[in-house]
Amino acid sequence: MKQAASIHPGQRIHLAREIDRIGYMLVSRWERPLAAHLLSLVTRMENLVRAISLLELAKEARALAALLEQWLQQPEAAPSERVRYGQLRHHLGVVCQLGLMERQQNLGNLDGLLQPGAEDATLYMWLPAGLDDGRLQRQLACFGFEVTVMSQAAKLAKALQRQAPAAVVAFADFTDNDPIRQLASAISSSCPLVVTSPRRDFPARLEAVRMGACGFLDWPLQVNQLVDLLSFGDIGERRDPLRVLIVEDMASLAGLYSRVLAAHGVEAASETNPERVPERIQQFNPDLILMDMYMPQSNGIELAKVIRQQRLLDGIPIVFLSVEKRQTVQLDALTLGIDGFLTKPVAPEELVVTVVNRARRYRKLRSYIVNDSLTGLLNHSHLHGQLDSAVERARRAGQPLSLAMLDLDYFKQVNDNYGHQVGDEVLLNLARFLKERLRRTDLVGRYGGEEFAIVLAGTPADKACRMLETLRQDFCRLEQQVGERTFRQTFSVGVSSLASAEDATSLVQQADETLYRAKAAGRNRVECHGG
Ligand code: GH3
Ligand code: MG
Ligand code: MG
Ligand code: MG
Repeated sequence: MKQAASIHPGQRIHLAREIDRIGYMLVSRWERPLAAHLLSLVTRMENLVRAISLLELAKEARALAALLEQWLQQPEAAPSERVRYGQLRHHLGVVCQLGLMERQQNLGNLDGLLQPGAEDATLYMWLPAGLDDGRLQRQLACFGFEVTVMSQAAKLAKALQRQAPAAVVAFADFTDNDPIRQLASAISSSCPLVVTSPRRDFPARLEAVRMGACGFLDWPLQVNQLVDLLSFGDIGERRDPLRVLIVEDMASLAGLYSRVLAAHGVEAASETNPERVPERIQQFNPDLILMDMYMPQSNGIELAKVIRQQRLLDGIPIVFLSVEKRQTVQLDALTLGIDGFLTKPVAPEELVVTVVNRARRYRKLRSYIVNDSLTGLLNHSHLHGQLDSAVERARRAGQPLSLAMLDLDYFKQVNDNYGHQVGDEVLLNLARFLKERLRRTDLVGRYGGEEFAIVLAGTPADKACRMLETLRQDFCRLEQQVGERTFRQTFSVGVSSLASAEDATSLVQQADETLYRAKAAGRNRVECHGG
């Protein structure tokens, strides 16, 4: 028996690249000796990887070998260019891509591992027994976080094994026998660790970094600072993964790319039909498009131009994937405003780095353009743009859609009593609250001043009203802090839906009228149009 460890991955990768090179020569011109050479390479690959139990690759190599054997057994009839372009190219793509992917037998398990799930909103909090007065837990619950407070090491270790939370927030005073020192590595290897400490000095911060902490917050903990930390940066990306749309006519190859990306926390969706791409972009809202250069229905360059024609999608990075190795063709694509070029088969690390960096940059850039600068919610004009397309989609699909207009009550008094800056803080608290509590598919925008709009696609009016009622009750429980003092803030809501409005304009108008009714009826309430 051959030992798995005795085969260097370099051997497999080298062989995959050679198969790719010879294979594509054969796609463009059929020559029997070349085909025989390719068959021997593919058979070698099959034997090599079967010995180390890379069974998926072994199976694909066998399928390619069988195709070549079949063609070689028919001496008179050479396979036509169309057949070679269709079948040979397909098998080559999969075999060579798998050949470059390491540990493919494990990758399957990683699928979906980093997708946002129910655990998304769980937090573990490590606090010495005397420090927990239940206040943090109650406040964080208003933002939708399920917080479990622990002060025993064994309990925390057990909980981490059972389920990795969105993050562990741990109190540390960095004294000689601070238990966090023993726990830190177990925490940070399973989920993000946020340290909170009464110490502000550099040595404490440095030690937190060395513990693997990705955030450091002052103790006593400010709930809004924690919520911000949980929605931006690394933790934010974990909870709201980068999204990549893969446009590739070969579904099996798209599946392989998705797998590599999913293993690095990126959410990927694939589309094999170029015609459906604009619609998919609207629905999936990707941070980057990974596009096959050659597809039977239309080539990637044309499709990229179609995408660029649509203003909303302008600027979304497009990275081409192609077997094209000629620099001039790649350069042509780059001058068209294409953001990157990857050559198939692509090394997994190269795919991940290229995609993640560009997607991240675009997400940030886009947020400056579409989001309101104070609250980070959609700004007025982009909210309108997105409301229009959501209404159009809902009408076409015959799906319900509701709109809620929300306005803070007696907000002028907050400014008058505490100052404009405190007013801004309250607006930010509401924005954080809405972002945390609504689903990712819901649109939330700052409609103006202290008025907000929420678009609930797929939700009928009665359900929307119930949702908003729960939000209203939870928000007015939140403590708004001004120095030592705290106060409560309420809001009123008007809800309208496509059941009674025929377009976006009347939807907004009805919600506005209904909001006015809620105000007139005494404020701090949710009113439903026609209800
Ligand atoms: P109502 O319950 O009827 O809505 O009363 P209200 O006081 O909230 O309504 P009004 O329309 O009289 O006042 C809205 C206030 O919101 C006035 C304005 O100063 C304040 N506001 C609007 N935008 C901002 C902002 O960006 N920051 C702060 N701090 N205040 C704002
Ligand atoms: Mg293709
Ligand atoms: Mg108001
Ligand atoms: Mg107002």
